[in-house]
Amino acid sequence: MDTFIPAAKPIIGDEEREAVDRVLRSGMIAQGPEVAQFEREFADHFVAGRETVAVNSGTSGQHLGLLAAGVGAGDEVIVPSFTFAATGNSVALTGATPVFVDIELDHFSLDPAAVRAAITPRTKGIMPVHLYGHPFLVDEIEAIAREHGLAIYEDAAQAHGASWQGRPVGTIGDFAMFSLYPTKNMTSGEGGMVSCGTATIARNMRLLRNQGMETQYENEVVGFNARMTDIHAAIGRVQLTKVDAWTAQRQRNAAALDAGLAGIDGIQTPKVADGAVHVYHQYTIRLDPAERDRVRQALLDEYQIGSGVYYPIPNHRLPSLQHFAPGLELPVTEQAAREVLSLPVHPSLRDGDIARIVDALTAISGAGA
Ligand SMILES: *Cc1c(COP(=O)(O)O)cnc(C)c1O
Repeated sequence: MDTFIPAAKPIIGDEEREAVDRVLRSGMIAQGPEVAQFEREFADHFVAGRETVAVNSGTSGQHLGLLAAGVGAGDEVIVPSFTFAATGNSVALTGATPVFVDIELDHFSLDPAAVRAAITPRTKGIMPVHLYGHPFLVDEIEAIAREHGLAIYEDAAQAHGASWQGRPVGTIGDFAMFSLYPTKNMTSGEGGMVSCGTATIARNMRLLRNQGMETQYENEVVGFNARMTDIHAAIGRVQLTKVDAWTAQRQRNAAALDAGLAGIDGIQTPKVADGAVHVYHQYTIRLDPAERDRVRQALLDEYQIGSGVYYPIPNHRLPSLQHFAPGLELPVTEQAAREVLSLPVHPSLRDGDIARIVDALTAISGAGA
């Protein structure tokens, strides 16, 4: 029997283990010099030296970023519904209202026309998601933000290294959150990194992360404990030296999948916008909704190939978030939720895995026709 091909697989090497051991032996394991060094290295690597603040998760980063940018009760923030729940959760946690709007299908980006239609006098900002590692439609969303005096907050959880017309993801909004969860393009175990667009947001982030203190025991504001540990930062620093090679491998895997799947009827392969660099956190195809679940099951049962549906329930219909959007209908979001299937594209795929995925889909699609 063929070995199982998982949908995602973090790569942890000897260097990561040695880095953790070095920190453990130092006896200083909470937030300290490793975190500070990780912040500088991440900033230089991904966001052109912008100030960055490390926290204990991407969700914390997004929540604290919004608070640092002054979002709170009475405000509205426009978000997609077709994303991980953390996007809307982080808005709700500030006391503000997440306003869910529809997407377009080519890049699963916030639909600019839908964003425009959702703006009210309470709208404070727009939080688009660089979903699957493809940047959102930056030019159009920026034009709307400029026209209406709105902030942009980037959900870059899935998009380390992506760019739009040469502008790195993470340098576009007032702040941007990168997740360092194990299945993301690089990891620190758990963690998040916030790229800050202004000195005020950076300082607020640092205060909110650490009980409102900059100087010990002189607490200036009510804050959280959202600190990253030096153990996690040490893992992240090593991963930072490897992530570019992994991204290149993801892109080669995606190109091979593109070529292999191009001829199969009923499979829509991912599109890349002109001038966009896609980092393929996910390689997401679209299928006939009547076929999607059968294809997914057959990949697993008959070919030992894992896949994922990100995300099956639009956020505006989740029990946790639906009270923000009574009766709301987002037809393109619903369509995407029924059609998407993410195939393995991660850099731990081995020689022959892509061919196995292509052959399996060729056979399964033929069988369904
Ligand atoms: C992973 C993810 C988050 C949250 O990041 P965590 O590090 O898991 O807290 C937020 N938004 C999106 C789109 C994500 O994929």
